[in-house]
Amino acid sequence: SDTSSNGSCNSNVQVVVRVRPPNQKEKEVGYRKCVAVDLSAQSISINLMPHPRTFKFDYVADEQVDQEHIFNMVGKPITDACLQGYHCCLIAYGQTGAGKTFTMEGPTAESEASVALMPEFQQKKGLIPRILDYIFQRMAAEKSKDMEFGVKCSYLQIYNEQVADLLDPESTNLTIHEDLKAGMYVEGLQEILVSTPEVTYGVFRKGSENRHVGMTAMNQESSRSHGVFTLVVESKHNVGGVMNRRISRFYLVDLAGSERQKHSETVGIRLKEAGSINKSLSALGNVIKALVDISEGKERHVPYRDSKLTFLLKDALGGNSKCTLIANVSPADKNSEETLSTLKFAQRAK
Ligand code: ADP
Ligand code: MG
Repeated sequence: SDTSSNGSCNSNVQVVVRVRPPNQKEKEVGYRKCVAVDLSAQSISINLMPHPRTFKFDYVADEQVDQEHIFNMVGKPITDACLQGYHCCLIAYGQTGAGKTFTMEGPTAESEASVALMPEFQQKKGLIPRILDYIFQRMAAEKSKDMEFGVKCSYLQIYNEQVADLLDPESTNLTIHEDLKAGMYVEGLQEILVSTPEVTYGVFRKGSENRHVGMTAMNQESSRSHGVFTLVVESKHNVGGVMNRRISRFYLVDLAGSERQKHSETVGIRLKEAGSINKSLSALGNVIKALVDISEGKERHVPYRDSKLTFLLKDALGGNSKCTLIANVSPADKNSEETLSTLKFAQRAK
């Protein structure tokens, strides 16, 4: 997005970069760090010879920045926008292992099973559980005889350009539609009415479990699919006897890994997978780029229909909406090519 003189961003897309800490294995082999974050400049430099490069973003988090801080900087403002009635999306982008799921959910059974039992688990909670706590807390605080709220949630995955309901595993290959009044919706997708953060997060966990079981049964990895958890927030406000009803959708997206597939692996089903992933990630990049151009006054066609993902997210990407892209990167030298490619992707959204 363009940076105006006061430094604020005038498109509805915010771009954030988060560098994860080195993992045990990287430390053991004496990894070399290839990125440096300048917190005061909100920039990140990548030391990729012969051309070191620096990129500037709306916000850059280094490995020291904890989950609570990420929530305060990134999660809270977009949740506030959702409660104000904007359609929103929060998207985690990056290569497999860069920290997308950690950022969105926190440590998972898959990553660090032991952590879930430890007291510091609460501290490591990711954006989704924190957003749920915050939404229900704010709704309770604002509820009155003239103000009512309701929340529904759904959870789908897009794999090979097919939409499947993670809350109803029988339900595969669903169709996305556009309704002139209500906007985008998925036909036949289960929506569950929820009233506490715990119950909502339970629904999310159940869906994630279905995602892993289903993908494993087909010998596929969940990192090859896009997971979209959606909150539908409805508010009813009685203003002098007139009922004001507002519905906003909040899409929480854990994208498929953005890494390019190695040639040797890119045959058969992997080839099809890689093609679909590239298609939706490049469509996402193109849509965001077109929206940024439009916000700068250019006339552009926005190619929402180029992928299931961008079509589904249409209302939350364009128009009166808020979108935050979190680009997750590894600090390690051996990932520098992928890190550069992630930073370039994120840069296009600026
Ligand atoms: P992705 O979902 O992008 O494939 P993960 O979120 O699973 O990546 O992260 C890979 C590993 O790194 C996991 O073990 C995760 O717990 C750990 N990790 C990622 N980001 C952080 C972070 N900011 N702090 C601590 N550990 C992290
Ligand atoms: Mg993941």
